[in-house]
Amino acid sequence: MFDVKTLDRFKTLETPFYFYDLSLLKKTLDLYTAELKKYNYHAHYALKANANDKILEIIKDYGLGADCVSGNEVALALKSGFDPSKIVYAGVGKSDREIITALNGDIFTFNCESIPEIEIINQLSEKMGKKASISLRINPDIDAHTHKYISTGRSQDKFGISHWMFDDVINTINSCSSVTLTGLHFHVGSQITDLNVFEMLSLRINEIVGRFRDKGVRIENINLGGGLGIDYKSPDENPIPDFSSYFSIIDKKLHREPYQQIHFEPGRAIVAQCGSLITRVLYVKMGKGRKFAILDAGMNDLIRPALYQASHKIDNLTSSGRSMRYDVVGPVCESSDKFASNLMLPETKRGDILAIKSAGAYGQVMAMRYNQRDLAPEYYSE
Ligand SMILES: *Cc1c(COP(=O)(O)O)cnc(C)c1O
Repeated sequence: MFDVKTLDRFKTLETPFYFYDLSLLKKTLDLYTAELKKYNYHAHYALKANANDKILEIIKDYGLGADCVSGNEVALALKSGFDPSKIVYAGVGKSDREIITALNGDIFTFNCESIPEIEIINQLSEKMGKKASISLRINPDIDAHTHKYISTGRSQDKFGISHWMFDDVINTINSCSSVTLTGLHFHVGSQITDLNVFEMLSLRINEIVGRFRDKGVRIENINLGGGLGIDYKSPDENPIPDFSSYFSIIDKKLHREPYQQIHFEPGRAIVAQCGSLITRVLYVKMGKGRKFAILDAGMNDLIRPALYQASHKIDNLTSSGRSMRYDVVGPVCESSDKFASNLMLPETKRGDILAIKSAGAYGQVMAMRYNQRDLAPEYYSE
C-alpha cells in the first residue's frame, strides 16, 4: 500500500524503478534485533539479497554483521563499514584472489565447503603469515521443502560437507597449521515457510555437534544460516516475518553449551518486503482467449519469476475499474518473461502504474542488461 504522496511521486518518475520503504526496513530490523537480543544470538546479513548502499548502511547501523558469498561481497562489506569480526564468507568455489581478499580483511570466519578448499586457505594464509579462522559448512541432508533451485541442504546439492567426510576433514584440519576450526555452518535453503524445517535442522545440528564432540572437536560457533521465508501472497497484511516463532523454535530445540555462540544469516526475511518494482503498462493486447498486460519492466529487472517460477503480488495503483484477467508480461524477447498468468486486476490500460511487491530481495541485485536494456534505478521513501 502506498500513500497518495508516494503515488504522486511515482507519477513524476520514469519507470521501471525499484522503490524501497525504509521505514518498513527499520521496523523489520527493530523486531529482528529485539529477538536476537532476547536469546543473545548473532546475525550476519546476507549481502547477496540486496547490496544497495543505503540499505547496507541501515543494516550495519543496527549492528548486524555481513554474510558474503564472494570476494567482492567481502570487499563491499568492509568498505560499507561492517565490522570485520562479524563478516563470514561462504561459497563452494572461492578463488585464490577472493580468499586473499578475505584474509587481508581479517574476517571472522570462512565457511568452508570442501577439503581442497581448506588446504588452499591453509597454504595462502601460511604464505601471508596469518592464521585463518574456518568453519565447516555441513550438508545436513535436509529437504527444506522449497523450490529445488533454492534448496541447498540435500545430499544431492553441491553445497557443504557430508557426514561421511567428517573424519577426513578433521584429519586435514589437524595437518594444517595456518587454519583453526571455530564452528559449524548450516544453510539449507531459501524461502522456507515451514518452521518444522528449522526444528528438524536444530535436531540434526545437535546430532552433528555431538558427533564432533565425540571425535574430540569442540565447536564454539554454530551458524544456522538464513532461509526464513516471507509472505509473497499477502505482503500488505503480513509485511514482517514471524521472527518470534522462528527463534523460539530454535531456542527450544537447539542444544547450546555455555561456551557456544549461535549465529544466523538472514537475507530475504530482512529486505524482501521493503522493496517494490514500479512499472507502467505499455500496451494491453488481446491474445487467444486471454489479455496481455505488457509492462515496461521485464525479467532483466526482476528475474525471480523466470528463474524460480516465483510469484509476486501485483497491484494496479492507478485503476479501480472492474476486475478482469490478465497475463502480465515484460518486453524482453523470452516467453519466460512473464510475471503472472490469469491474474485478476482492475481494468488495466496503457499508462497505468503497477507495483510488483516483495521485490527487495534477489530483485535489483540480479538485474541484468539483457536486450541492452537499462538497469532500473532505485528510489527511497526517505
Ligand atoms: C543466500 C544465503 C543466505 C541468505 O538466505 P535467505 O534465504 O535470503 O535468508 C544465507 N547464507 C548463505 C550461505 C547463503 O548463501
